[in-house]
Amino acid sequence: MTYDVIVLGAGLAGLSCARDLMLGGADVLVVEARDRVGGRVDQATLPDGRLVQLGGEVVGRGHTAYLGLVSELGLSLVPSYVAEPGEIVYSTASSVSAGRPGWFTPADVASDEKVTAAFVALAKTVDPDDPWSHPDADRLDRLPVSAWLREAGATEGVVRLWEIGQLGLAGGSYDRISLLSELRKSAAVPSAGHYEYDDWEGLRVAEGSATVALRLAASVQVRAGAPVAAVRIAPSGCTVTLASGEELTTSAVVSALPVGPLRGVHVDGVSSARLSSLHRQRNALAAKLAVAYPRPFWRDLGRNGLSECEGVLGSTWPQSEGVLSALIPPERYAVLLGIPPRLRISELLAEVTRMYGPAEPIAAYLRFWGTDPWTQGYVTQWAPGDVMAVGPPHGTHEPPFYVCGSDQWVAGYMEGAVRTGRTAAREALRRG
Ligand SMILES: Cc1cc2nc3c(=O)[nH]c(=O)nc-3n(C[C@H](O)[C@H](O)[C@H](O)COP(=O)(O)OP(=O)(O)OC[C@H]3O[C@@H](n4cnc5c(N)ncnc54)[C@H](O)[C@@H]3O)c2cc1C
Repeated sequence: MTYDVIVLGAGLAGLSCARDLMLGGADVLVVEARDRVGGRVDQATLPDGRLVQLGGEVVGRGHTAYLGLVSELGLSLVPSYVAEPGEIVYSTASSVSAGRPGWFTPADVASDEKVTAAFVALAKTVDPDDPWSHPDADRLDRLPVSAWLREAGATEGVVRLWEIGQLGLAGGSYDRISLLSELRKSAAVPSAGHYEYDDWEGLRVAEGSATVALRLAASVQVRAGAPVAAVRIAPSGCTVTLASGEELTTSAVVSALPVGPLRGVHVDGVSSARLSSLHRQRNALAAKLAVAYPRPFWRDLGRNGLSECEGVLGSTWPQSEGVLSALIPPERYAVLLGIPPRLRISELLAEVTRMYGPAEPIAAYLRFWGTDPWTQGYVTQWAPGDVMAVGPPHGTHEPPFYVCGSDQWVAGYMEGAVRTGRTAAREALRRG
């Protein structure tokens, strides 16, 4: 049997692409390596019925493609951790403080306001769809964010606070992130400030973010447990070879694979410029801890469960009633792997206790997304020089080879997956 389109990967990108192709009248098959759909969104159910999100979780008001899909699927959005009462905690080597850390002086506050305004103004000069055309693109791309902060006159307190926030997001140290990529990300979801939580993280799907993938998968044909080893692209017909050796034939191929696993797939019939652009992209390696407690005990101390930390954990936030999420950023991933396996969760929980006091968890889940063979990452990471090196092929297609996935948007995220997935479907349908 020959399909109109074979989509590689059943994450949010592949599934939203396949659904639109199917609704457009195409005969589509999604091939997926794992024995489950969803990719970087996954959830567990507690004995009391609560869902625990183990991957992607929150979205913002600016994530219009994702919000539109959620409403089409009949799912509902509710405020995320931003609605939780209480104070944020900063946990550094020397102190745990509710609200801004004691070392952040009034001079730092003034400096923060000044550099934030400069950052927002500079972001307005970058076209998120074409950052390469910026007159100063090369220099901005080679400049790490922390170097720009110092150039812009930020105090060391501000540089440290931005770094703590960035490691909280687990995107990789600002010493190693391209300023152009950060400006592009900011320009894609315009905001009054730098990474405003409401615009990027203020909402979540009440039924569970992994339910979005399950709903999508219910309407499309998915072959799970079928890793792809090779694809051959030709206008006269394409072949997808599974790791089992089985060959599938199709008129077009959509790759919805993360950039790490994509490097392991042999691709023939696509220009070397496109392949080297795709293979140049990288991901930040992160792990996620999700801990379920009987109740939101952090409220007892007047804290909202949100923290930015300088431990092995980079951040915590309440994902739902009594369930706490935490990220381990790339810089501390190796430290986590170095902890003897049976001590890992207890050492991370000790960091939680330091911030919120003792509490007995019902369940704890630790997922090593950075070294998971089918993800090899977390979100896209743009090191200095990477935006220019990946270049304008980023997120574009070479029919009958189409590309989507959160890595093909400015900065990852579930928004990137849905946005690029639906765009790839539109493009493939337009070309028949
Ligand atoms: C811990 C964590 C927390 C996150 N938090 C958030 C958040 O709060 N908000 C947000 O917006 N985003 C978040 N993200 C990012 C977001 O989840 C992802 O960007 C998005 O889900 C990626 O979707 P995708 O379809 O592009 O890729 P994926 O979900 O990675 O899907 C790719 C699919 O391809 C499959 N695959 C890989 N190799 C092969 C192969 N050779 N053959 C066949 N199939 C293959 C994989 O198994 C996978 O199912 C988070 C991610 C992680 C890991």
